[in-house]
Amino acid sequence: MEHRGKREVAIVGRPNVGKSALFNRLVGRNIAIVHDQPGITRDRISAESRRGDFILWDTGGIGGAGESELVEEVHRAAETAMSEADLLLFLVDAQEGLTPIDQELARRLRRSRRPVLLVINKIDHPKHENLAAEFSRLGFESVTISAAHGRGIDSLVKVIERELPAADTKEKITALSVAIVGRPNVGKSSLINAILSDRRTIVSRLPGTTRDAVDVAYRRGNDHFLLIDTAGIRPRGKHSSSVEVFSVMRSERTIRRADLCVLVTDATSGVTAQDKKIAALMQKAHKPSLVVVNKWDLLKPELRKRETLAKLTRETREQLFFLSYAPVLVASALTGENVEELFRLIAKIRRASRDQVGTGLLNRLLREAFVANPPPAIANQRLKLFYATQTREEEEPLLATPEFVLFVNNPQLVTNTYARYLEAQIRAARPFLGLPLMLDFRPRAQGRTL
Ligand code: GDP
Repeated sequence: MEHRGKREVAIVGRPNVGKSALFNRLVGRNIAIVHDQPGITRDRISAESRRGDFILWDTGGIGGAGESELVEEVHRAAETAMSEADLLLFLVDAQEGLTPIDQELARRLRRSRRPVLLVINKIDHPKHENLAAEFSRLGFESVTISAAHGRGIDSLVKVIERELPAADTKEKITALSVAIVGRPNVGKSSLINAILSDRRTIVSRLPGTTRDAVDVAYRRGNDHFLLIDTAGIRPRGKHSSSVEVFSVMRSERTIRRADLCVLVTDATSGVTAQDKKIAALMQKAHKPSLVVVNKWDLLKPELRKRETLAKLTRETREQLFFLSYAPVLVASALTGENVEELFRLIAKIRRASRDQVGTGLLNRLLREAFVANPPPAIANQRLKLFYATQTREEEEPLLATPEFVLFVNNPQLVTNTYARYLEAQIRAARPFLGLPLMLDFRPRAQGRTL
C-alpha cells in the first residue's frame, strides 16, 4: 500500500501549554473519531490538517506522571518528533512564562537541526503581546497565538506553509499493510490495542479510510504500517453464529488487501475449525503470514513455561500444517508479552523476502532432489526439469513473495505432492520465513536435462 508522502508537522511542548487545543485548531475538525479507535491514545495521534496541506502530529499528551517521569516523557516524545517531522512547532505558554523544561526542550530542538517555529500560546488579547518578549532569547522564529480563542491561527498556517518543503518534493512513503484476522473473541482488538498503545508505536490515521473499512496507520522507527480493516473486528460482547460467518467473509476481503496477515488464535481453546478456515484463506491467497497464539497469560505460564510454550507452538503448527511457512508466536495482548517480538518477526519476514537462491545452488539442489526422490511416472511419462531460476523483482516491493520458474518437459506431470516436496527442498536451503513460495512450472520443448 502506498500513499504520496505528505509533509509532516509535529507539535512539541511541555504539558498544559495547549497542544491539544492547537492540534484541534489546525486539524480544523473534531477528531473524536480518532478516540473511537481502540487503543489510540490521545497522546500520539496525527491527522491531516484542513487548514494546510500537511499531516499534523500531536506528540505530547502526558498525563498523570510524576514530575521526573513527565520530563522524560516530554523529551522522548520530542525526540521522536525531531527525527521525523519536516517542521517542529515548539509550543510555549506565555502566561506561565519561560520554564526550565522549555529551555531544555529548546536546546534539544536546536540540536535536531530541523526547522523549528516557536509558537507562543495563550496570548488571548493584543495587550498580552508583551508577554512574548521573554521567549525571544530562545532564538527561534516565533508567532503568537491563542489556541483557545483561535487568535493568530491564520497567520500561523501561513508561516507553516512557508517553512515546509514544497508539497511534491517529499519522497513516497510506503506502508506495509497488515491484516489482523481471526474468529471473534480471540483478542484481535486487544492485540491492536496493545500494538497501538506501545511506546514505540506512533499512531496516525491517514486518508484512504472508507466507510466500512477503517485503516489505522502507524509507525515504529522508520517502518510504516497500515493496520487494515480494523472495522471488521467486531465490537466486544456480541456472540452469534451469523457474526462468525460474517467474520470469515469479511476476513477474505481483508486478507486479499493485506501485504501480510496475522492470524490470531486463542491459547485456551486451541486451534478450532474456524481458525483453520481463516488460515486456509491466507494460504489460498498466498499471503505472507504469521500466527499469534494469544491469551498466553491464561495458561499460567509461570509453571513449566518452556514445555508449555513448546507444546502450544507444536500443536498449533500441527493443526495449521498447510500454513507451515507461518511462524507461530505465543503472546498475550493483555500483558503485552511478545508484542514487541511480533515486530521483530515482521522485520525478519521482510528480510527473508529479499533472499535470493542463486541459480547455481537452486539447480544443484533441485537436481539432487530429483535424484533422491524421482517424480512418479504418469501415463508412461516422467517429469523432467531443464532449468530453474528465482525471478527477481524489478522494483523492490515491500514484501515480495519469492517466485521460482521451473522449465520442465510437461507441467501437467507435476503433482501437488511433488511440488510440495520441491518446495521443501528449496526451503531447506533458504527457509523464507513467513513467506509462501510460488513455483511456476513452464513447458520447454527442447533443452538439456539437468
Ligand atoms: P476480538 O473479538 O478478537 O477483537 O477479541 P477482543 O479483543 O474483544 O477480546 C475478547 C476478550 O478476550 C476480551 O474480554 C479481552 O479482554 C480478552 N483478551 C484478549 N486478549 C487477551 C489476553 O492476552 N489475555 C487474556 N487473559 N484475555 C484477553
